[in-house]
Amino acid sequence: MRYRFDDIAHIDAATFLASATTDSAVDVHANAQVSIATLHEAWATLRASGIATAVPMALLVYVQSREVTALQHFFPIIRHLSGARRQRWLHWFRQLLVHTPIDILLLTPAKTPAPLALQCMVIGQVVSCFVDRPDILAAFTSGTPSFWLCTNSSVYDRVGGIGGGCYDEGAHRIILVAERLFEGYYTAVPGVSPLLHELGHMLDGMNRRLRNEPFCRGELPLMTAQQLHDWRVAKDTEVRLYQHYRSTGHIQGRAPLGHPYVFQTDGEFLAGHWEMFWRNPHAFAQTAPDLYRALAHIVNHDPRAYTVDYRGYVDDNTAFYARGEPAWPSAIRLHTNEHL
Ligand SMILES: [Zn+2]
Repeated sequence: MRYRFDDIAHIDAATFLASATTDSAVDVHANAQVSIATLHEAWATLRASGIATAVPMALLVYVQSREVTALQHFFPIIRHLSGARRQRWLHWFRQLLVHTPIDILLLTPAKTPAPLALQCMVIGQVVSCFVDRPDILAAFTSGTPSFWLCTNSSVYDRVGGIGGGCYDEGAHRIILVAERLFEGYYTAVPGVSPLLHELGHMLDGMNRRLRNEPFCRGELPLMTAQQLHDWRVAKDTEVRLYQHYRSTGHIQGRAPLGHPYVFQTDGEFLAGHWEMFWRNPHAFAQTAPDLYRALAHIVNHDPRAYTVDYRGYVDDNTAFYARGEPAWPSAIRLHTNEHL
């Protein structure tokens, strides 16, 4: 029996392996196969490291085959890359994984280097966001970020984790329960991504450090003056839409793109829109074209070229404003140039 990788990529590994015959194999692509027996080994190794939760099959296929194609389930840009851009993605992926590795630890609660399976989820995401901004990748690496991935929620609580994932600005560290790395990948179209959201906060922290500012401003690092201007003007539009809704209970023209959650602070505004930019770029560009364009200029590419929208956030947010639910308080303060 041969399994097509695309058919099983998002299926939970334990469920799939329990039913797959051990003398069968998965075709990653025409020239690469991986046997079910070796996938069982990869799963056993991962469980022995302390990861007891579900993981999508695509991850085991990558660990056993080292075929980057297998990671395209998590990072759809890979499918789209060719020539020099593909080489650049591969270069930076290897660079951050092998040559100047980022500090990615698994906490059981003892701290050990995270298994390859987890490291590639973090690094692949960072490289996919900035494949066309190698200057940001270089600065990101030299800024010594760290990632603490906890095997369960009690370890997460014990090491100071807050909410569903968090960024510790003082330590420049993202803390997540490890299984949340996979949460949005049990469907063919990737859904929620706590890592992307926290990465937005980490980039904000990186910007603060590079600019030697006293606090995070909800802005990305290494923006040109023009990019910064465009971001602030477009952000101002969203904030004004939200403030109008908040004060009147009605939308004016259109609803804001983001949920009230992202209007709580400048940092949440960046993190929330950063995640939506990658997860639902088509709806984002249609609803808030200026803000979309501002982000696309900063990352220097357009995710619409390779992304199918996840509708979860957009539909929830649209429904929230359509119902006329009470808005949340907002502490956003850096949305107009005169405040800067
Ligand atoms: Zn947040």
